[in-house]
Amino acid sequence: MKITNKFNVPETLLALASKQYYSKGKADFSVTEIISPPRIQRLRTKHYHEMEQDVSDMLWSLLGSALHVVAERSEIANHVNEERLFLDIDGVTLSGAIDLQHIDGKNVEITDYKFTSAWALRADKIDWAQQQNIYGYMVEKLKGLNVTSLRICAFVRDWSRREAQRNPDYPQAPIQIVHIPLWPMEETEKYIKERIDVHRSSKVSADWDEELPECTSDERWIREEKFALKKEGRKTAVKLFDDIQTATVFLSVLKDKDKHFIEHRKGEPIRCVNNFCGVNQWCSQYKKTEEENENE
Ligand code: SF4
Repeated sequence: MKITNKFNVPETLLALASKQYYSKGKADFSVTEIISPPRIQRLRTKHYHEMEQDVSDMLWSLLGSALHVVAERSEIANHVNEERLFLDIDGVTLSGAIDLQHIDGKNVEITDYKFTSAWALRADKIDWAQQQNIYGYMVEKLKGLNVTSLRICAFVRDWSRREAQRNPDYPQAPIQIVHIPLWPMEETEKYIKERIDVHRSSKVSADWDEELPECTSDERWIREEKFALKKEGRKTAVKLFDDIQTATVFLSVLKDKDKHFIEHRKGEPIRCVNNFCGVNQWCSQYKKTEEENENE
């Protein structure tokens, strides 16, 4: 991957961004890898040498790396920082790096640090549950400890004090603890084996993009179609509706309806459109969606 420096940031930052912090060691798969779509993983591997990212777009991943380094320095009794575990399962070696384990006798509480947005924090984060439950499984199997709780320590990067005072549903502090439901061990084991299988078969049989399993709607972060009631001179929507009929009825009873209008917001795969996966230019599934949209 080529790291560019379009905004002439100090070279020290460029050097940090160019460094590979993440390694799955001698493992066949990492936990992050198996929970992500095989299409993304295979396209990244295939096109890694052609991929390009500007250092200015890597701010949060750089800060994430910095946080892990700082966290490692905090030595407190019964707390294990940054431990990488290797588990042999279903004929492969799986690796996972756990940010923090708080051990109390035979019990352990697992915590992972995440940078996230206020919006994402309020959405369902299934990938957090998947990742944390696999870590829990690894700890129980490898260390013989009883996992009592799984948590995310989330750093809300766009937190606003004003919004927190205005809206009780908004995160009330820039650091939030999110509790993750613990799955039964058998369920987690079944999930791990399914994911290994999906990745193993795509690795062996799919050299070409078209043969790769398609990313699901959840994996593409589909944003549903909405009808936004908007007011002249106001940037944000007054209210969002799932269908045009309800939006029209709502608009028709407004006293100042001539100052309002309805804006159609098409549903779209956020991860693909914004290239959060980093490979949309090589993805046949994305190209197909784009062509369908153009033909509409
Ligand atoms: S562009 Fe969309 S469909 Fe293609 S790999 Fe990325 S997330 Fe998956």
